[in-house]
Amino acid sequence: MNNKNNNRRIISINQILMWVAIFAVAVFLFNRPGSQKQTLDYSDFKTKVASGEVSDLTVAPGVITGTLKEAEGKETAFKTVRMEDPDLVRELTAHKIAYKAQADNSWVGNILFNVAWIVLLIGLWWFVFIRPQRSDGKSAMNFARSKAKMQDPSKQNITFKDVAGVEEAKEELQDIIKFLKNPKKFHKLGGKLPKGVLLYGAPGTGKTLLAKAVAGEAGVAFFSASASEFVEMFVGVGAARVRDLFDQAKKNSPAIIFIDELDAVGRRRFAGIGGGHDEREQTLNQLLIELDGFESKQGIILMASTNRPDVLDPALIRPGRFDRHVSVPAPDLKGREEILKVHAKKVKLAPEVDLKTVAKGTPGFVGADLANVINEAAILAARADKDAVENSDMDEAVERVLAGPQKKSRIISEKERKIIAAHEVGHTVVARLTNHSDPVHKVTIIPRGQALGYTLQLPLEDKFLTSKSEILDKICILLAGRASEEIVFGEITSGASDDLNKATAYARKMIMELGMSENIGPIALPDGEEGEVFLGRDLSRHRHYSEDLSKRIDAEITDTLRAAYARAKEIITSRRAQFDALVERLLEKEVVEAAEIDEILGLAPRKENVPQSGSSAEKESGSKQPAPAEQAELF
Ligand code: ADP
Ligand code: ZN
Repeated sequence: MNNKNNNRRIISINQILMWVAIFAVAVFLFNRPGSQKQTLDYSDFKTKVASGEVSDLTVAPGVITGTLKEAEGKETAFKTVRMEDPDLVRELTAHKIAYKAQADNSWVGNILFNVAWIVLLIGLWWFVFIRPQRSDGKSAMNFARSKAKMQDPSKQNITFKDVAGVEEAKEELQDIIKFLKNPKKFHKLGGKLPKGVLLYGAPGTGKTLLAKAVAGEAGVAFFSASASEFVEMFVGVGAARVRDLFDQAKKNSPAIIFIDELDAVGRRRFAGIGGGHDEREQTLNQLLIELDGFESKQGIILMASTNRPDVLDPALIRPGRFDRHVSVPAPDLKGREEILKVHAKKVKLAPEVDLKTVAKGTPGFVGADLANVINEAAILAARADKDAVENSDMDEAVERVLAGPQKKSRIISEKERKIIAAHEVGHTVVARLTNHSDPVHKVTIIPRGQALGYTLQLPLEDKFLTSKSEILDKICILLAGRASEEIVFGEITSGASDDLNKATAYARKMIMELGMSENIGPIALPDGEEGEVFLGRDLSRHRHYSEDLSKRIDAEITDTLRAAYARAKEIITSRRAQFDALVERLLEKEVVEAAEIDEILGLAPRKENVPQSGSSAEKESGSKQPAPAEQAELF
């Protein structure tokens, strides 16, 4: 099949525009009135006719042009505005001056002139506004060129020591490095290598970094492109860019080609209604062609990252294509500490700062978050003119990354502050009084990010298993904000919408995926692809359960939420006096920490009797996927 050469030449809009602009300028100059021609008054002209000093006349309706014989045989072109002069032809004949008539074509000139202006303006607009946006250097001149960025091996200074907490992934990438260092030798020894390595894991876990580090370790060129760049509005451009990317890499081999967000082009084909011929699919096909078309002995390894390996087209992950899959999981406690250490090298820490403690307080954070924490802490310390980053900066930075910067300036009415305080204390009290919930760290009504206030709970450990009681408590805590609004003000607000979403999601997951409902039974009814709209597929796919079961599930979800809401109300009502006291304190201080919460609620400090590491649970379950979001949570 000659498929490969089909779209070889994508005409560059940029180039067309450039030539049109040049043409326009030429027309403009050519048509400029008076260019190079001497202009004569009509009376002068008549005198010269009489003295026979003109020749080769062209008589057009508005203008007469010709050659003027001057002294010493010099000839110049001239023109004159034609006046109403019935005798002219007779005179010309009498003086034997050659002339020809020309029809009125000035409108052509006028149109050309105007078009030239318009084109010039468009060209200018393009160069000023459009080009800079598209521009990354030379690639801006050509649409079909891949926008891939190449990193020179000599300037490549990221190595495995910059990537922490992903030891297994590094281990798995070792032989790729060996191969890239000496492709020929590797091949002679008969080593068979994967062409494509798929790195998968949540965003920010360091997949890009890892790919760069492989290039750095092997000392080879690194080409990176984001798959979403391939999906442009013009059909064929994506495919052309894929080709160009591979061509560039082949010229610079050995090399790594890294494609970020592979799922942007690599989703299953034929997924949507009427799908089949869209740009994305053409790009995907081109990618498959390139994958099949190069031999690993050319010294090129394709790496790609995705956080949705499940949605990739099976053709992509077949043997001979992206056949090596490397998991890049979110870091555990030790991993987080190591990542913090890597990034802390770039800043000055006060001796008091213990990164292990920071790691403990950041469950669920991925590498990118942790890098961010260090960065934020450094900025905060610098802003306060400190010599080094202190614990307080670290704490504030963690919260910032968790929920966005504090917004002290947001103006909130007194009435709203009271509602928010009651809402938050509802979360706090229920979180503190349920037995299967994480310790409450603090409660605040200082707005942060999207949240007007929040209760911060931090788990004691990384958890890999979640019990039914824990989920039920979580739902209860989530609904407690709304419950306290109702109890205190007899009126509910929109402030609980996020809580309601989360609570419903937990209930749904518990009943439908984790089989934790007695009425429905131990059954898993996966709910399709979360958050993905795959119209065609969803319509055509059979639901694996009956209408009747579906109704019972809906009823069960509603019941679970209702029961949790009632329980939350009950807990709050039973402690109403302490609840009110805590609301008062919160309104006064804006932030109340764990110890003070316990004191107001009249509780002994919670004993933290849980082991410090989740590794035992991890081993038992054999599963590394934490159950529902086990991370610090804000309500
Ligand atoms: P991904 O490609 O998985 O979305 P990136 O590799 O782009 O994540 O990570 C973004 C940034 O976060 C990196 O540039 C690095 O500063 C930091 N980072 C992420 N993971 C790690 C890690 N494991 N070790 C050190 N830094 C990391
Ligand atoms: Zn809430």
